Amino acid sequence: MTPNIDPHALAAELSGRHLIDGALVAARSGRSFAVVNPATGREIAQAAQGDAADVDNAVAAAARAQPAWAALPARKRGTLVSECARLLADHIEELGRLVALETGKALRTESRVEAGVVADALQFYGGLASELKGESVPFSPEMLTLTQREPIGVVGVIIPWNAPMMLMALKIAPALVAGNTVVVKSAEEAPLAVLRVCQILNQKLPPGVLNIVSGFGPECGAPLVQHPLVGKVTFTGSVETGRIIARAAGEKLIPVTLELGGKSPMIVMDDADLDKAVVGAVAGMRFTRQGQSCTAASRIFVHEKVHDAFVAALKARVDAMKMGDPLDEATDIGTLISRPQLDKVLGYIERGRAMKGAQALECSALPASETLREGLFVRPTIFTGVDNDCPLAQEEIFGPVTCVMRVRSGDEAIALANQSDFGLAATIWTSDLKTALNATKRLQAGFVQVNQNIVVQPGLSYGGVKQSGLGREASLEAMLDHFTHKKTVIFNMN
Ligand code: ADP
Ligand code: MG
Repeated sequence: MTPNIDPHALAAELSGRHLIDGALVAARSGRSFAVVNPATGREIAQAAQGDAADVDNAVAAAARAQPAWAALPARKRGTLVSECARLLADHIEELGRLVALETGKALRTESRVEAGVVADALQFYGGLASELKGESVPFSPEMLTLTQREPIGVVGVIIPWNAPMMLMALKIAPALVAGNTVVVKSAEEAPLAVLRVCQILNQKLPPGVLNIVSGFGPECGAPLVQHPLVGKVTFTGSVETGRIIARAAGEKLIPVTLELGGKSPMIVMDDADLDKAVVGAVAGMRFTRQGQSCTAASRIFVHEKVHDAFVAALKARVDAMKMGDPLDEATDIGTLISRPQLDKVLGYIERGRAMKGAQALECSALPASETLREGLFVRPTIFTGVDNDCPLAQEEIFGPVTCVMRVRSGDEAIALANQSDFGLAATIWTSDLKTALNATKRLQAGFVQVNQNIVVQPGLSYGGVKQSGLGREASLEAMLDHFTHKKTVIFNMN
């Protein structure tokens, strides 16, 4: 398959299709909906509007393909998944451009990077196939007692739009290597790049092993969760939808993995390397993605001695970032995903401004270009003078808005950091080992870093506590714990 680096042409080519049983097909109902470029407000393609009938076709195809897929030697599956990674390596530019076009994420700082991570995740899991091992158990001298890992069957994968290819890859790769077959339901805002990834992977995978449908949540996602042949669901998205999915899975008594929201704290002590902390805040807050990340460092607790210097340096750094056309190499920050998301973010900023004592520092500058006039740009905004218990500091905004709050001590910072419904990620910045160790023990989060703020990495377990979700992703354990079940086998030797 030749890469197509014209994202408009590629979007048109993929228009109105699911990928089921190895073939690109329209929705059974014939319906479709518009996919819009958030930088211009213009339609770039239609997406197939899937419903229960399409889901049923996709799940049936996956169920038919599953026994033969599971019967392959594990390393054969791993090799195929690694070969998929190599195929993708030729499509990084193409995929980066396509995801930039449909999501508004800047190509250089976000979209191309995301495309690379997809190949990396597949490569990582492809190499882990031989780790699908069991144990022998010294239960009785007369018996040979073993455990073995078996696939669950058909896995339903439901993904959001903020890093659609990466989040999909971290779910489908372990599911496939473990011997499951998969039906993905893409996010309505970003159905194209993930469809393209699946199309590329289908060159290597047998038909039906990896299927993808597009459509709206209640109409297309819900029937996937409820389908009797789906034995596990893995979901990344909002807390609200996570609860709905967990309820439906509970009805069927099937396992779910949920990666939900966050309001991730960053603590900066007075002995921290301030320059590094500022760089870390920009990266952690994902300003290049307009803050649309569940790990966004959206609550920054800074020791009072360095608070003002930190805020000034952070503002200067974000001011230097360029907002613009997502496909332009010079652009650091692209757009938000959709009009409702834009209204939500602007609403938070407005309410924040109206709060007593709050100060809103708007950074960077909106693009001047006439063609981007309808673009969904929001200026990154740093709030100071707010308390941890206000909505701005408690609710997930999913936009380029962060709160910098003054603290007097590490203890105060940790206590405030933990005053949150969420517990996904956290960072502490200090040059004192004891302070760092103490914080890593006490911070209630699934992913804690000292003096850095990097994103999810293949090989490191990733996931949340409290309302941030259930289960872990991205690691070997994630594959073993969430995409297999353990069978105990006992041979009586008498
Ligand atoms: P957002 O805030 O972006 O709408 P959601 O959690 O609602 O976040 O969406 C994440 C994914 O979950 C999307 O693919 C969406 O279509 C899907 N989804 C939404 N509602 C449901 C539902 N009731 N059942 C299954 N999937 C759903
Ligand atoms: Mg929704």
